[in-house]
Amino acid sequence: MLRAGEAALWRAHHHPSAREPDMTLAKPSLHATASAAWHALAPEAVLERVHSRAEGLSDQEARQRLEQHGPNILKRERQNGPWRVLFRQINNPLIWVLLGSAVLAVALGKVTDGLVVLAVVVLNTLIGFIQEFRAGQAIEALARMVPETVTALREGAKVSLAAEQLVPGDVVELTSGDKVPADMRLIAARNLQVEEAALTGESVPVRKQLPPVAEDASLGDRTNLTFGGTLVTSGTGRAVVVATGDTTELGRISRMLGEATDMQTPMTKALATIGRYLTVAILVMSVVLLGVGLLRGYVISEALLVAITLAVAAIPEGLPAIVTIALAIGVQRMAARQAVIRKLPAVETLGSTTVICSDKTGTLTRNEMTVQALWTPEGSWSVSGVGYAVQGELQREGQTVGELPRTAAELLRAGVLCNDASLQSQEGKGAITGDPTEGALLVVAEKAGLRVGELRDRFARVDAIPFESENQFMATLNEEGEGQRSIFLKGALEVVLKRCQSEGAAPEAVLAEMDRMAGKGLRVLAVASKSVSGASSGLKPEDVEGGFTLLGLQGMIDPPREEVIAAVRACHEAGIAVKMITGDHQKTAESIGHQLGLAEGKVVTGQELARLDDAQLREVAASSHVFARVAPEHKLRLVKALQAQHHVVAMTGDGVNDAPALKQANIGVAMGITGTAVSKESADIVLTDDNFTTIVSAVEEGRRVYDNLVKSLAFVLPTNLGLALILAFSVAFFPIQELAGGGLAPLMPMLPVQFLWINLVATVALALPLAFEAKEPHLMQRPPRAPSEPVLSRFVVGRTAVAALVMAAGAIGLFTWEFRTETDRVGAEEAMREAQTMAVTTVILFQIFYLLMCRSLHGSLFRLGLFSNPIVFLGIGLLLLLQLGFIYLPFMQKLFGTAPLGWAEWGLSALVAAVILPVIGAEKAWRNRRAASAS
Ligand code: ATP
Repeated sequence: MLRAGEAALWRAHHHPSAREPDMTLAKPSLHATASAAWHALAPEAVLERVHSRAEGLSDQEARQRLEQHGPNILKRERQNGPWRVLFRQINNPLIWVLLGSAVLAVALGKVTDGLVVLAVVVLNTLIGFIQEFRAGQAIEALARMVPETVTALREGAKVSLAAEQLVPGDVVELTSGDKVPADMRLIAARNLQVEEAALTGESVPVRKQLPPVAEDASLGDRTNLTFGGTLVTSGTGRAVVVATGDTTELGRISRMLGEATDMQTPMTKALATIGRYLTVAILVMSVVLLGVGLLRGYVISEALLVAITLAVAAIPEGLPAIVTIALAIGVQRMAARQAVIRKLPAVETLGSTTVICSDKTGTLTRNEMTVQALWTPEGSWSVSGVGYAVQGELQREGQTVGELPRTAAELLRAGVLCNDASLQSQEGKGAITGDPTEGALLVVAEKAGLRVGELRDRFARVDAIPFESENQFMATLNEEGEGQRSIFLKGALEVVLKRCQSEGAAPEAVLAEMDRMAGKGLRVLAVASKSVSGASSGLKPEDVEGGFTLLGLQGMIDPPREEVIAAVRACHEAGIAVKMITGDHQKTAESIGHQLGLAEGKVVTGQELARLDDAQLREVAASSHVFARVAPEHKLRLVKALQAQHHVVAMTGDGVNDAPALKQANIGVAMGITGTAVSKESADIVLTDDNFTTIVSAVEEGRRVYDNLVKSLAFVLPTNLGLALILAFSVAFFPIQELAGGGLAPLMPMLPVQFLWINLVATVALALPLAFEAKEPHLMQRPPRAPSEPVLSRFVVGRTAVAALVMAAGAIGLFTWEFRTETDRVGAEEAMREAQTMAVTTVILFQIFYLLMCRSLHGSLFRLGLFSNPIVFLGIGLLLLLQLGFIYLPFMQKLFGTAPLGWAEWGLSALVAAVILPVIGAEKAWRNRRAASAS
């Protein structure tokens, strides 16, 4: 999606003098019309020019045009195309420093050193490139998991199509909540408002109308056109497609700007900043080391080499790739668990979620509505049978009802007529299309012996006011025959009762019945009607303001999803509060809340919320868990109130009016099946199964991703610091020796080229596997991470210091001991080679042991299952193989100055390296004890 700034840029490009040249690249037939000023033509003229009709194209025509014009998709310039990704890898200060070092080393005659540094650069760039490229593709692929569909007319029949299939000339229906699929000229509109921020940057919806406008009207003033990529915020309309795919206005902008999939998250940004500081700090340290070396009398080339080595060894060049991989794995695993990430930062934020605010219907419940109770002033009935199968019957006090009482018949008939759903039943199985609440009304009518089709034919609909969450009612105007018409009204009881005459049923009796039904967790719809004279042709708002007679109540059950009860419990264990937010009645909400385990606190209604000031609201938002009769605008206030208390809020929503709350929430969650396009566009994640449990899975994945990032940091940083410590310590304190070619240099526990070797092989083979680590056993029994926790947390810093010291002390100590004892036996030169090889081996083995310890942040490795992450062992195996080559292959011995080791030396190296095991074990025990005493 384009941001405001980009839209401004686009407007600058579209100055009248900068007309698009390709608009005149006219191909025959329809292409010739691509430049037409559609907005200046009447609807009929537009239909004619695109060779279409008000009832739409035929399938045959559509197929031909699809071949001619291609699918309705934007061929965007790929921000994540291979060259750009490669450029991003190279365009990185860490890499420049490394490249500079390589050149310098070669210039100093240290060709091997230079080549190893170059290998480090190439390897890291390659891994970074492959991973980021794949991650980018995976994220782009996600968009395809939430398909866009449109309702089009083909030869007069409404069909549901993939937006891709649209061609110029297609006639499309628009309703509030839709995303406009292509550039279109309106041919009918009713209160149609469209938000065109995607094109113009202007987020106030534009009212759309039919009359032609001046030919030179600016884009924003072409009020009879709707543009692809914009959003219908209210009303309905019908329009004919005039441009698809890249020829749309949006297509032209995208071609100019390309679309960026934002690969940045708070963590990657923080790491990039840390990386920059670290690079500067390391460069300064390198210069200091150069100075120290020179002061101690080094030859300049040797002093420069240690400085270069420090820079290369201390920079954690592998980190960016690790972070990208961990995030990409998270995105893919979430998608596999039905949560499609739309904005990458959500992967991280999910892990720190503290409150989940969820809709009830369909998310916490199954959205399989079945009417179970009927009430009219004449009496009440229960209905047997569940689901959409029309088997079942009306009962009264346990007895089957033979003939349908008149009032019940009227109640049921009104429910069928004031209804947009349809019912298909075959072989005892039923299915509905449309709103499940309305589907239930059809099923119960059939059970009682009424025929939906017949009723709808006999009492044809003249007009309707569709259901909207804010209004909580729907009304229709139907023929009654003989010049008589009726208005039927159904909706929430309060809303309907307000519009009824006082005579008829005593409100007390109605309210008592309502309480009884709602107390059982039933959703209750009230149904009313009034007669009007035949002259009225349409429904105006004032027609439904009053004068109705209450026909009765229908109570329907919508059972909680079985798995949600466990998921709510899991949230509570994980320190995450769950709040149910529903448009339903207080009593219904309370009962369902109880069944789901959201019992604490009082049920708060939207009306009560509206009366609270911000401070009171904060208190109520924290202490209550069930919110009933809530309108979309209350949701926004609730999110803000929770955020004011430093909560990280995930909020679900499906309607157009939920968009502001979804945007405000830290994690906006849209519904893949029932959600409107508008809500999906505003969301950070989309649930492809509409299920609450999926949010909890996503939170779990989010926590795992963050854990793995922390593990990777805690593994990588000590290696870099440890190597830097060894180098700095030896330059500063080790004895100076005479070089064969003249001049002075230090005795070093490892040669510069050996440092580089460790850097080359270990980061790649060992750090990456941690990104694949499975979740830890108590992942969802921990409280959420504080969002303010810095990336370099106390834990990471402390661990880095401890592990680096152990590693440096071990390598330096072992080298010194081995060098001393062996010099007498084999002479200084031979002893040095052997001791250095042992020091390198110790560091490598240290890393292997330390890696195993890093697999779990808190617990012991054995609780995780030693072999639960095979990739770790793949990495270890690869590393050992390389190390064997390093020690035993003659050409490697020559390149890296190594000597073959015997069993005793291997054993000793392993023993020293293994010191890290009890050290980290003790550190974990200490941290766990502190955490336990803190809680
Ligand atoms: P939740 O917020 O739990 O997901 P919801 O969004 O389905 O529930 P709404 O659809 O806003 O809640 O419904 C609120 C109230 O409006 C319902 O309790 C019911 O009384 C009434 N209502 C729901 N659907 C219809 C409909 N199709 N026609 C008329 N009234 C309806």
